[in-house]
Amino acid sequence: MPMQLLDGKFLSAQIKQEIAAEVAQIREQGGKIPHLVAILVGTLGRSETYVASKMKSCEEVGMKSTLIRFDDTVTEEELLNAVRDVNNNPDMDGLIVQLPLPDHISADKVMETIHPAKDVDGFHPINIGRMAKGLPAYISATPQGILEMLKRYDIKTAGKHCVVVGRSQIVGLPMAILMQRNTYPGNCTVTITHSRTQNLPDICRSADILIAALGRPEFITADMVKDGAVVIDVGLERVPDATKKSGFALKGDVKFDEVAPRTSYITPVPGGVGLMTICSLMQNTVKAARGEVYTGF
Ligand code: NAP
Repeated sequence: MPMQLLDGKFLSAQIKQEIAAEVAQIREQGGKIPHLVAILVGTLGRSETYVASKMKSCEEVGMKSTLIRFDDTVTEEELLNAVRDVNNNPDMDGLIVQLPLPDHISADKVMETIHPAKDVDGFHPINIGRMAKGLPAYISATPQGILEMLKRYDIKTAGKHCVVVGRSQIVGLPMAILMQRNTYPGNCTVTITHSRTQNLPDICRSADILIAALGRPEFITADMVKDGAVVIDVGLERVPDATKKSGFALKGDVKFDEVAPRTSYITPVPGGVGLMTICSLMQNTVKAARGEVYTGF
């Protein structure tokens, strides 16, 4: 079977249209316009770019968005109070706090302070636990975007061996939990790997579905991929590139040029998973505004 691109650009444009239509309908019916709030601490270039594109996407689909900024000298308590203010503001439906945070602030504490019903990034332990149990929950935006991709390309997952490289709380771990659930996409036999894993190339080679989320540019090479595998590249790193105006190029965890010909489906970087992540956030915020995930809060 010839290789097919899992085209995040195409899918995200499609999903944005769907969200825009939904928001327009809410507006027509005089309903609550979904409102996403982002908190950004410091001026890290990458975080600025991510948050700006999240805010811009909300605007494009007619949603409301608010950016709350702090210097990186903000105290943990000040930040927690800002989170509590959003929790208590009925006009604000979803809240994301852009990571990473400065070392003096506990990201876990911040995530646990976000009300689970507004945690559209799906990082709160209650959302992770509910997701693991298969209860209604906000699912971490990147893994949710990957599920959406698998669904929209009708990729068979039941009974397949899915190898997830990386066990981070925001990508690898939830991805592995989701792929083993008794639903579609899911029902995979899942192996989760990390920096202490032995024989990683052998394990990767046994994957029908390989999800790379380790943050090591071009780490996955052709010899680590089985013929016909589905390869999802979550990695997104800046590497110096003198030929680019910006001075850097965006690279994934997969050496695309040599891996792609072996695969049945593969995501490009950029233009793959990253664009889906933003869509998940907006979809979750619409659900939050509609009160669809949590009732009774
Ligand atoms: P992270 O928190 O740094 O976690 C990386 C994981 O990879 C860890 O579990 C680590 O193992 C594992 N790892 C590192 N080196 C390895 C190696 N040589 N062999 C096997 N496993 C190894 O990273 P993250 O936040 O999950 O992000 C991963 C990548 O995805 C980054 O490039 C990030 O920019 C990108 N990302 C993209 C999106 C998107 O929307 N496209 C969203 C989120 C993240 P240990 O646990 O043993 O340290």
